Amino acid sequence: MPELAPVTSAVLPSSLLICSVKPMCVLFLVVGPEIASRAGLSPSILSRAACGVWRVACGVWRENRGMRVNRIDGARLWSDLEALAGIIDFGSTPFTRRAFGPAYAEARHWLVGRMEEAGLVVRRDAVGTVIGSTPRTRSLPPIVLGSHIDTVEGGGRFDGALGVLAALEVARTLADSGETLNHPLEIVDFTAEEPNPYGSSCIGSRAWAGTLNQQLLERTDVDGETLADALPLAGGDPRRIDEARRAPGSVAAYLELHIEQGPVLEREGASVGIVTGIVSIRRVSVILSGRASHAGTTPMDVRQDALPAAAELVLAVERTARASGGELVATVGKAHIEPNAPNVIPGRAELSLEVRSLSHRLCDAALDEVGQTARAAAKARGLNVDIRERSRLDTVAADERIVQALERGCTSIGVRAMQLPSWGGHDTSLISLIAPVGMIFAPSRGGLSHHPDEWTSPDQCAEAADALLAGLRELDRSFAADRG
Ligand SMILES: [Zn+2]
Repeated sequence: MPELAPVTSAVLPSSLLICSVKPMCVLFLVVGPEIASRAGLSPSILSRAACGVWRVACGVWRENRGMRVNRIDGARLWSDLEALAGIIDFGSTPFTRRAFGPAYAEARHWLVGRMEEAGLVVRRDAVGTVIGSTPRTRSLPPIVLGSHIDTVEGGGRFDGALGVLAALEVARTLADSGETLNHPLEIVDFTAEEPNPYGSSCIGSRAWAGTLNQQLLERTDVDGETLADALPLAGGDPRRIDEARRAPGSVAAYLELHIEQGPVLEREGASVGIVTGIVSIRRVSVILSGRASHAGTTPMDVRQDALPAAAELVLAVERTARASGGELVATVGKAHIEPNAPNVIPGRAELSLEVRSLSHRLCDAALDEVGQTARAAAKARGLNVDIRERSRLDTVAADERIVQALERGCTSIGVRAMQLPSWGGHDTSLISLIAPVGMIFAPSRGGLSHHPDEWTSPDQCAEAADALLAGLRELDRSFAADRG
């Protein structure tokens, strides 16, 4: 909720001060020389004193005006979250709003309206990303705040939406208080962050980073439609995607507020998280090949059963991750055996293994250990083993100056923050290719996300948005000072 007390306690007295001081100063300048000669004082000293009092009064007023709104309007932010949660795919599980669908288009139309009401100049780039800008005041590049408003199937109300709407609320709060930052601001809703039916994700931020290539555009969904075909549904034009690219240095900093999607903030009783980095995500496939044969007639000592070897590998993955002391997580999320029949020995097992950690060294070590286990388990059963890296996202470090600015911002408004890594990927990962980045996390009840029960309370949303505002002010000041 808005904090009204500072407005009345700081602005009114300073306004009264300035109202009463101004006529006094004018009076001094008019009658000062006469008073001075009668009192035996130098007229120039008196007029200088009058001007000094005037400058101090103006300074006090400006200072108080600057600190007038330290809190965003939590009720307004919550009302926007509720409005957006009402624009969802017809006939789907609440609160689904898939990219490229009609509800997505309607929600973005609503968002553009809210941005324009806030005085932002709104445009769509070549992949449909919605960008609301404040006017440029100096020749500094913009600080960008944003996230995404698409969801997974059966997703929640806060993943992505909170980041976009909190950024909008921050811009409104600054406008309400008549405050202009050194850097212009851009409030951004990146197109299609969540995994899409065309086998990709983070379309808007990829386009900014210049990694949305032809190969990704030509990927198809189950009906054979390509991502390029779908882009116009999100307001994009596949022939112009190069125009969406942002050059390194054209963005001063990118800040994304997002729900944590994990249980750490709730467990630690922290109001917000300051993200130190986004973990590396490495995926490999492991294929164990033996021989399928009759489950009754094949003696145990001549079997080439792929499944027990796969089971050893699954247990090794769990053991390795547990031994890391919370520094690494590892999952076998997908498994397929052939022929997958009750009376046939599995002749082939294919597993999809994923490890995540901020430490590349730990990722390498875990994959090595699991690989050794897989080879030993295969050898013991006469199997072939094939291990292949399928994808690799390297660790993204948050910019240290942004982390420090967020820390100072949280301290300045008394918000309890803790530093933590992001275990999930975000648009921030892509934007780090062209700009310094940072993230703020809001708590997720029970660590739940990508689920209709995803929940962050109104107070938690407001507090995280307050932290975004306070961190932005610190960042704006320090980055502008660095550039002289
Ligand atoms: Zn998200």
